[in-house]
Amino acid sequence: MVFGLHRSNNGSSNTTQATVPEAPPLVVRKLGGRYKLSDFEFLRTLGTGSFGRVHLVRSVHNKRYYAIKVLRKSHVVKMKQVEHANNEHSVLSMVRHPFLVNLWGTFQDNSFLFMVMDFVPGGELFTLLRHSRRFPAPVSKFYIAEVALAIDFLHQNDIIYRDLKPENILIGADGHLKLIDFGFAKHTQDMCWTLCGTPDYLAPEVISSRGYNKSVDWWSLGVLLFEMLAGYPPFYTEDGNPIKLYEKILAGEVKYPSFFETGAKDLLRSLLTTDLSKRFGNLHRGSRDIFSHMWFAEIDWGCMYRKEIPAPYIPSISVDGDASQFERYPENDISEYSRTDLPDEYPGMFPDF
Ligand code: AMP
Repeated sequence: MVFGLHRSNNGSSNTTQATVPEAPPLVVRKLGGRYKLSDFEFLRTLGTGSFGRVHLVRSVHNKRYYAIKVLRKSHVVKMKQVEHANNEHSVLSMVRHPFLVNLWGTFQDNSFLFMVMDFVPGGELFTLLRHSRRFPAPVSKFYIAEVALAIDFLHQNDIIYRDLKPENILIGADGHLKLIDFGFAKHTQDMCWTLCGTPDYLAPEVISSRGYNKSVDWWSLGVLLFEMLAGYPPFYTEDGNPIKLYEKILAGEVKYPSFFETGAKDLLRSLLTTDLSKRFGNLHRGSRDIFSHMWFAEIDWGCMYRKEIPAPYIPSISVDGDASQFERYPENDISEYSRTDLPDEYPGMFPDF
């Protein structure tokens, strides 16, 4: 047995009765008080996303390290991301889960929005995957199991994540995962129509503007699992042409490497199906079809949720605040964050920050 995954059944069919922890009822959390810029010492950039920059900071009060995501209001407005920025705030302030990054609070000045989160020091799963080329099956199973629990928790609370990919998964100091970047997450029970996400990971129904639901996240989980096992995604084009990529996704033909285990292939076929009436996660048993799939047979989901299964890789972190697992980025001039001489050109647009 690898990594102490517990075998909870010895059935021979490809589904079993998995016991997955019930999601605790969602309470809109009160975030821990108001923050301001002068509460933090800015240390270095940890990453840049399409809409902002994330800094490693240290609280001048409790001396703990945090990550602060900064979004420039004018950029958010220009890129038509106002609703997404507000969604990110509202979704992250609702949730608390072992495999989701924790938001401590937010604030804004006239030009910027700030989100104070836990600093997750182990770097991106993306970096680990590229360095490892691909993960052995038990490692992929461990990581996919943690991500599946996080996605299922979001879905149980009517949140669609919509941007699952290895860049949005960070590794904690203990080796367990944290999902970050809720920029495309949405709290809704309705169908969605917005084209958002990352090309390689987009579900066919998002591309074909058919209207979609949370089952897009289970498709992306399939893409993620394939990429972990193979070292490359199931749909790609040599020249990076997105139109050709979308044609391949819509056709839904996946070539499985011969070294993939039968169980993994079976699960992947049930996730990476363009036919929504067959996709696991979207059938009458919902996510139970995934959790009780034979490939996960040795997993005790309760132990997984409680982080009782030792992680396959522990990042080397020397001291608190060690950001050596993150690439270096050119630093920006943070004095622009404290300017009070500029007017707020978007008053009332970000009411909850
Ligand atoms: P995002 O804009 O949320 O996608 O973040 C951009 C990058 O910043 C990520 O890919 C990570 O490398 C880094 N990052 C974001 N949030 C955190 C965090 N809480 N702790 C450490 N690094 C982070």
